[in-house]
Amino acid sequence: MSLQSIVIVGGGIGGLNLAHALVKYNPSLSVTVYEQIKSPNHQQGWHLGINSQGLDAMKEAEIPDLDKATDKNMVSAFVCVDQNLNELLRFGGPMKQGKSDSALAILHRRTLHKLLAKNVNVVYGKRFTRYEEHDDHVDVHFEDGSKVSADFVVGADGCWSLIRKQLAPSIRYTPVGVTQVGVMFPAPDPSAMPTLMTWLDFAMLRSSSPSGFSILSGIAANDDGGKDMFIGISWVDNAIKEMLPESNQEVHQWMKQIVKTHFHPEFSALVDMTTVDHIVLGGPRKVHSTNYQEHCPLLNIKHKRVTLIGDAAHAMTTNKGMGANTALMDSIDLAKTLTSSDWEGGLADYESTMWKRGSFEVKDSLRNTFRNHSTGPVNFAMSKVFMKCFNQVLVWKGISYY
Ligand SMILES: Cc1cc2nc3c(=O)[nH]c(=O)nc-3n(C[C@H](O)[C@H](O)[C@H](O)COP(=O)(O)OP(=O)(O)OC[C@H]3O[C@@H](n4cnc5c(N)ncnc54)[C@H](O)[C@@H]3O)c2cc1C
Repeated sequence: MSLQSIVIVGGGIGGLNLAHALVKYNPSLSVTVYEQIKSPNHQQGWHLGINSQGLDAMKEAEIPDLDKATDKNMVSAFVCVDQNLNELLRFGGPMKQGKSDSALAILHRRTLHKLLAKNVNVVYGKRFTRYEEHDDHVDVHFEDGSKVSADFVVGADGCWSLIRKQLAPSIRYTPVGVTQVGVMFPAPDPSAMPTLMTWLDFAMLRSSSPSGFSILSGIAANDDGGKDMFIGISWVDNAIKEMLPESNQEVHQWMKQIVKTHFHPEFSALVDMTTVDHIVLGGPRKVHSTNYQEHCPLLNIKHKRVTLIGDAAHAMTTNKGMGANTALMDSIDLAKTLTSSDWEGGLADYESTMWKRGSFEVKDSLRNTFRNHSTGPVNFAMSKVFMKCFNQVLVWKGISYY
């Protein structure tokens, strides 16, 4: 029998896109999203790069006003440079005549959330705690003591997923030995960063140094008609010997010192413009990943009315920028499965496809993480050679051109 009601736990990127796609494929389906944050205006970190696969998944779900939000935020490339701003590797970017640019929308997380939440039945302030699966329905329990029932439950509750913990405890989420902090602030006039603007006009930029520190930066429009810039700094834990600062005030001072010591002076001048209030990844925050498993663990677990998408199944490091894009792709595959008359038969196929895609990205993101944080002159030089050779392949294949 076709499903009549679906509960999605987690109103993040994957969960909200899934809600749109489900209703598109079956308008009579009852779909409710339960989200722990109290309101969509809650502070939600910095920018995300949504590539053509992610954009296609949102188009497929018919997200209202998608073009309006993405048009003013499009860049076409991701560029890697060394600490002195020598270019090493470029994905996409302005192409030779006759070839179209690749697409990457840099969106503020809050902008993306507002866009995706439009027309979706989201209940905010509801923190999921556990579920009980029965033959013909699932009961879902919340921290406030309330309970709802549905034909099917989707765990879209992100990297710390409690649904995953209950359904598939062999998927673990642990630190990878890299830590990060970040600031987001009103984008300064381009004249304050003439060299960086060589790329920031059309790209997100990663700058790595042999010290094991790495900077990710980009510029995107905000909801107030202005532009914000983000600068995220990450490092391998063994790159520093001293105790890490804890308060945001100390983190901010430390960050300024690190950027001044290890990176191009334009980055240092930019970080000097920021204040402690601009910190968005305070902490500092340990970068985590789920453990890589080639075979989908869900296929060995007896379950029928619960599954996972996005970070809940396969949370990855941020170093390939694929987490949100993968969650968006999962959401379309799952929506197609759950709206088909043979959803029971299709579930294992969905889980295999989702896992193959997700676990590949978990592994590749980890590889990128260590490449972006190579320490010592020899490792760093090898990493540079690899990137330059890889770049030649991309140019040769027409994936980038410069
Ligand atoms: C600094 C940073 C930069 C990134 N940059 C990129 C990028 O450029 N490109 C990219 O593709 N990805 C990027 N990512 C990864 C991306 O943010 C995630 O992969 C993506 O958000 C996953 O989507 P999701 O829907 O699975 O989970 P999320 O978007 O995290 O949504 C999960 C939702 O579940 C809610 N939730 C959690 N627990 C509960 C509970 N118990 N009850 C109810 N609700 C709950 C959360 O509040 C949240 O709203 C970045 C991540 C970080 C941290």
